[in-house]
Amino acid sequence: MSQYQAVKGTKDVFPDEAVQWQLVEGVVRRLAGLYAFGEVRTPVFEYTELFQRGIGATTDIVGKEMFSFLPDPQGRSLTLRPEMTAGVMRAALQRNLLSQAPLHKLFYISDLFRKERPQAGRQRQFTQFGAELLGASSPAAVAEVLSFMMGVFDALGLTGLRLRINTLGDLEDRARYRDALRAYFLPFADELDESSKERLEKNPLRILDSKNPALKELIAAAPRLFDFVKAEGVAEFEEVLSLLRDRGVSYEVDHLLVRGLDYYCHTAFEVTSSELGAQDAIGGGGRYDGLARELGGGKDMPAVGFAVGMERLLIAMEKQGLLEGLKPVGPKVFVVVQQLELSGHAMQVAFQLRRAGISTELDLAGRSMKAQMREANRLGAAYALFIGQTEFESGQYGLKNLVSSEQSTFTLDSITEILREPLLCG
Ligand code: AMP
Repeated sequence: MSQYQAVKGTKDVFPDEAVQWQLVEGVVRRLAGLYAFGEVRTPVFEYTELFQRGIGATTDIVGKEMFSFLPDPQGRSLTLRPEMTAGVMRAALQRNLLSQAPLHKLFYISDLFRKERPQAGRQRQFTQFGAELLGASSPAAVAEVLSFMMGVFDALGLTGLRLRINTLGDLEDRARYRDALRAYFLPFADELDESSKERLEKNPLRILDSKNPALKELIAAAPRLFDFVKAEGVAEFEEVLSLLRDRGVSYEVDHLLVRGLDYYCHTAFEVTSSELGAQDAIGGGGRYDGLARELGGGKDMPAVGFAVGMERLLIAMEKQGLLEGLKPVGPKVFVVVQQLELSGHAMQVAFQLRRAGISTELDLAGRSMKAQMREANRLGAAYALFIGQTEFESGQYGLKNLVSSEQSTFTLDSITEILREPLLCG
């Protein structure tokens, strides 16, 4: 064993587990295609200020969870991205995307980094898939991203999910609400825990996110943001809900839902899974029209998006037996050689088969025929192709179906014809 271990809160993934990731990624990509979202990839690190501005200085992410570093003593601080939205918006503004087309539908599958205390479903490097729809935040746009997200869960067969949804109003509504909330909590300041006390000054909305059971009743009786939302905002929210009903998406309106990030406005949502423990949030999102201005874009940009945690999604799928029996696909053919001197020829045979799009494995370690057969079975190969001196000289090879055990002799060209699969590229 190496003296080095993977860093706490990070994970290695080998082929037998990678197939689970590929299953989910495949569905995400398929649904993204159906909903016409194009893939966006942004750098893994950005200037630290981007996240300070884009996520908000009072959030836990910026306050204590960022992996930041100085590239050199004079350099500007950099940070490993803790979420995707700020980077995508930065990229969109930098490219001036909206001047090229009025609407952009982007999706991603990306690694993120947060200095959190690792536990089940909470890592320091984790992966999210998500989408950002830029240029529109109409009820239809909100329903579009929500349908995409819920569509992925549906396609994967995941059940036991709860979609909670709320409206946060506009900036003005939130400012009035913030004042009301501060006035409400102030007389109870002594009963608040340390982090809530801090939030009381900086951002009292975040007290509502507290998981502290001692504060539950106090929070439940607090004024509701919904009562501060103007009539237009309420009407828009109703429209979103009606579109979701039309599309058969079930939801629960939860006026206590306030997302931790500062740039959200109007619709916000969160999905939890009954299969997860303390960390039961599987995804969330909402509208963030104010982010572009916050990042120096000069004005608001209508925008709505979501992000789903892949690790938690996989934990929930595992609990529901949705990953059972999933294993890497073995090669179609295993080339078995009788003696070492034929291994050069075996490589040529494998090369021809691979060129025809037939996945082929062969012995690379000079093992006995028996060991090669064992390996072919272990890998789940469909056929074994035998090469001995006679086969080499006659050009007629034995092909054995490893499931039915039937065996016949063919030329290599015939075998290629029989097993040929269209090659995707090349
Ligand atoms: P957020 O960006 O905080 O809204 O998170 C969106 C989703 O990402 C959550 O619902 C989780 O599924 C996932 N997530 C967030 N933080 C972590 C983490 N540290 N480890 C694993 N998954 C996470």
